[in-house]
Amino acid sequence: MTKILVVCIIKSVPIEVLNVKINLTKIKRTSGQTHQFSFEQNLEPLLVEGESIPFLKPVTVKISLTNTGGKLLHVTGTINARVKLVCGRCLSDFEQEINIDFEENFIPSSEVTDDQVERLEDEELTMVKGEELDLTEKVIENITLALPMKIICNEECKGMCQECGVNLNEQSCSCKRLDVDPRLQVLEKLLKS
Ligand SMILES: [Zn+2]
Ligand SMILES: [Zn+2]
Repeated sequence: MTKILVVCIIKSVPIEVLNVKINLTKIKRTSGQTHQFSFEQNLEPLLVEGESIPFLKPVTVKISLTNTGGKLLHVTGTINARVKLVCGRCLSDFEQEINIDFEENFIPSSEVTDDQVERLEDEELTMVKGEELDLTEKVIENITLALPMKIICNEECKGMCQECGVNLNEQSCSCKRLDVDPRLQVLEKLLKS
């Protein structure tokens, strides 16, 4: 009897670090024109308040960059991502699609006068140094801001049984649950003691 040994080599897909960078050399010379850019990358999980949030497909970023003819570079963009979240009530995984529009204005550092530097933030302008516009941080910031405050799989999610731990969306249990106002529960405890 011969044994056949099958060796599977699983090629690991390298995960890139988000890299949304645009070279400005030509753009600075094309006053009044708009340029389109498109990025699609596999990203490392986001870290939000100690929780790791993985992406389920490459993140797509589309950028329109206009040299306004003045000193400004006006950016509008869209981001599309799909992340895996964990429901805060029933602890099951669910997927969430994220679609965001964003807008930013940039000014080359060569155009900024000394007394203007302090006013940039009030005018919602970001200064760009050199010939490269790096939008990486802005993209990550926008994705993080788009995550829901309260992460639940569904408004109607019934959560987990506090007693036996079953997912009450999938099955019921015979534990006694008192759906009472927590203030009344405190009162009940006091009465029992
Ligand atoms: Zn849930
Ligand atoms: Zn139960």
